[in-house]
Amino acid sequence: MQKQRFFDLTLPELTQAVKALGKPGFRAQQLYRWIYSLQTQDFAQMTNLSKDFRSEMPTLFDFTLPEILKVHKSVDGTTKFLFNVGSNKSVEAVIIPSRDRLTLCISSEVGCNMACKFCYTGKQKLQRKLETWEIVGQFVQAARTLTPDQRLTNIVFMGMGEPLDNCEAVFKSIEILHSTWGYNVSRKRVTISTSGIVPMMPKITEAGVRMAVSLNGVNDQVRSEIMPINRKWPLAELLEACREHCRVSGDKVTFEYVLLKGVTDSLEDAKALYHLTKSVPCKINIIPFNEHPGSGFYRPAEETIVRFQNEMIRLGAHVLRRKTMGRDIYAACGQLTTAASSTQTQASL
Ligand code: SAH
Ligand code: SF4
Repeated sequence: MQKQRFFDLTLPELTQAVKALGKPGFRAQQLYRWIYSLQTQDFAQMTNLSKDFRSEMPTLFDFTLPEILKVHKSVDGTTKFLFNVGSNKSVEAVIIPSRDRLTLCISSEVGCNMACKFCYTGKQKLQRKLETWEIVGQFVQAARTLTPDQRLTNIVFMGMGEPLDNCEAVFKSIEILHSTWGYNVSRKRVTISTSGIVPMMPKITEAGVRMAVSLNGVNDQVRSEIMPINRKWPLAELLEACREHCRVSGDKVTFEYVLLKGVTDSLEDAKALYHLTKSVPCKINIIPFNEHPGSGFYRPAEETIVRFQNEMIRLGAHVLRRKTMGRDIYAACGQLTTAASSTQTQASL
């Protein structure tokens, strides 16, 4: 019989599996605590479990984690991990430190089918969706590289892929990482960023996690041009889904808005962005475009970025400029790709 993957199992599923082996259900909680909370996979240390159970463990479950191919540390404190996902492909996760947080930016898919024109990941069609253990595994592996006084506090699904195109694995992985017997990551410290798969957006609300939406265009014409998904679910429907999330959750939405030189960065765009979003309880994250070769898009000049942000502030929007982190190791927004060779290219940039 094939062994179940440990990192695929929610606590109720592991409890069931443990009971099926004739052990009391609470052994599952103990295992969760050792593996996730105390972060050890050394069964000899798990002294509250019977010796027999401990020695059988490797034959009962498959504890494989995604293999770390490379770790790049940026001068700004960002750490990028490259994980092998087989077939000569890799995905990336990035630890982003800020004052009181340690955020892990996590990938949900190898490549992405949404084909946003400005996005490096979108250049590569979807190769495959990640499985639950591969999403949980990015977190577990990254957490194990930290010192005992450090702890990952936040998770953002802003790495490679469209999380709402892989709902089953994404929401299951959140359930696992949220477990109080495990890492106990609060739901309010998990953010799912979507390009706007409208029918799936209520799942974010149901899961009790935060919603971020990649807006990037202030009217259907511009948005459809740079984000093909807008042809399927145009702005009116997208914003309605955002309002519904706010109404039900009592939470705000974060809108991400990439500033593309000459495409989305004018003062008129700033005004339009304000008027478009003012009916939604929200904050707006302005992300100056991170350039990558051959995209055909450019980062606006610093003055243009500041002018755009100031106009939004003048109008009364809650707007923040996303600090670009990890640019030197090519770990910044939209710079992630699946081709294993890309990192070498980036490292030499
Ligand atoms: N697929 C999801 C999450 C991953 S993309 C989504 O689209 O929301 C994470 C964010 O990076 C998105 O807001 C996207 O608009 C932004 N982004 C993509 N390419 C970028 C680039 N080259 N420079 C800056 N931001 C980029
Ligand atoms: Fe996919 Fe997001 Fe990139 Fe669009 S911006 S191609 S949805 S990863």
